[in-house]
Amino acid sequence: MNNALLVLCPDEPHWTLPDDESLKKLLQSIQLIGDPLKSEMQFLAGEKFLDLIAFMGCSPEIKLEPGDDDRPYCHVRLILGTASIEFHSGSQTHTPRCPHCRSPVNDWKRKISAWLENGAEALWSCEACQHKAEPWQYNWRKSAGFGRCFIEINNIFPKEAKPQQQLLDTLNSHYGVGWHYFYQ
Ligand SMILES: [Zn+2]
Repeated sequence: MNNALLVLCPDEPHWTLPDDESLKKLLQSIQLIGDPLKSEMQFLAGEKFLDLIAFMGCSPEIKLEPGDDDRPYCHVRLILGTASIEFHSGSQTHTPRCPHCRSPVNDWKRKISAWLENGAEALWSCEACQHKAEPWQYNWRKSAGFGRCFIEINNIFPKEAKPQQQLLDTLNSHYGVGWHYFYQ
């Protein structure tokens, strides 16, 4: 089954949460998340989920709880404090483009593998213009992300929904770091 994700993560990929509990407590207090599921750090959508996540267009039938069938439903998984910066991508990830000259990086999968093997620290050098930049400064068109903590919202397909600005602002003011989103 294709599990599509809407993912929120901090703008600064090196940033980590100050502790293991505050994100869960914050998201529970604003009711983005509700009761925990059996798996660790997975939660049902909370009472205000549909106020904080904006669904586009003719709103499809949004399933927020497990039912009798196997149809996937929206729930939230928190990934806290990974050991190093992780690269999260999916089957729909776009070819990234240089932030300077916009050339596509067609061999990005090989570059990502090499970058991760080298401790996720090296700058990427553009083969077209030699501009050096962090890989997250390339334009991934919201189809991949880098970071050490992630809020994954399951069963949302690209452009089907996005976080309300209020949710991003709440995370920003609580932690003092900007947040953005992508689809995986
Ligand atoms: Zn370039």
